[in-house]
Amino acid sequence: MTKALSIRNLRKVYGQDIVALKGIDLDVDEGDFFALLGPNGAGKSTTIGIISSLVNKTSGEVSIFGCDLDTQKSEAKTHIGLVPQEFNFNQFEPVEEVLINQAGYYGIDRRNARTRAERYLKQLGLWEKRRQMARSLSGGQKRRLMIARALVHEPRLLILDEPTAGVDIEIRRSMWSFLREINAQGTTIILTTHYLEEAENLCRNIAIIDHGEIVENTSMKRLLAKMVHETVILDVA
Ligand code: ATP
Repeated sequence: MTKALSIRNLRKVYGQDIVALKGIDLDVDEGDFFALLGPNGAGKSTTIGIISSLVNKTSGEVSIFGCDLDTQKSEAKTHIGLVPQEFNFNQFEPVEEVLINQAGYYGIDRRNARTRAERYLKQLGLWEKRRQMARSLSGGQKRRLMIARALVHEPRLLILDEPTAGVDIEIRRSMWSFLREINAQGTTIILTTHYLEEAENLCRNIAIIDHGEIVENTSMKRLLAKMVHETVILDVA
């Protein structure tokens, strides 16, 4: 099976001695819906930053759909759509322009970009807002705009860093159903989250990271079965 992501012995040291990743290995198959779960400071954002070429690794190997980040970085980047935690689009542009300009970075012409923007804005419930300034959107709407923007060049791998943090439950559910739909259409998805409920609802496979190490890497089903088993043992004890 094609690997969407393959990571070997990945290390990251910030400054002299902040060891954020201690040599992790991780594989994600094409088509998977994969969760990276872990407490604050575990190394999730660092991992995602390295995969997306925003953070330099200290050592190790990363490849995206077979493209090595050291030797085929620009091709690897075309395969990735990133939804970071913070809103980093131009707040003073109309919503639709945010998407059209993003498409422009990938060499997509305006007409084509407009068609794609329409599709994603409609799917994410933002079509009525297309002429409004991005800054006038609510927090949940901004998050959905970030997802649309990450998809506009039609990447094979969508990476979301805590996409539903601070989003109310109704919007969160509608984002979940949208993500399920695009995953069913073939986009591989990796998300980081603090919510086990979110991972349980969406993901087939999961890795748990803690203090820069992968402490669990299994299917969601096996993890839940193990948790139930451990709870039973604890109850008996
Ligand atoms: P959160 O859930 O809070 O976002 P996280 O799992 O994403 O946490 P990271 O942000 O990857 O964790 O941080 C991993 C470790 O690296 C932490 O100890 C953090 O303090 C440290 N760290 C992250 N970014 C930097 C930086 N730019 N400079 C120095 N240390 C950093």
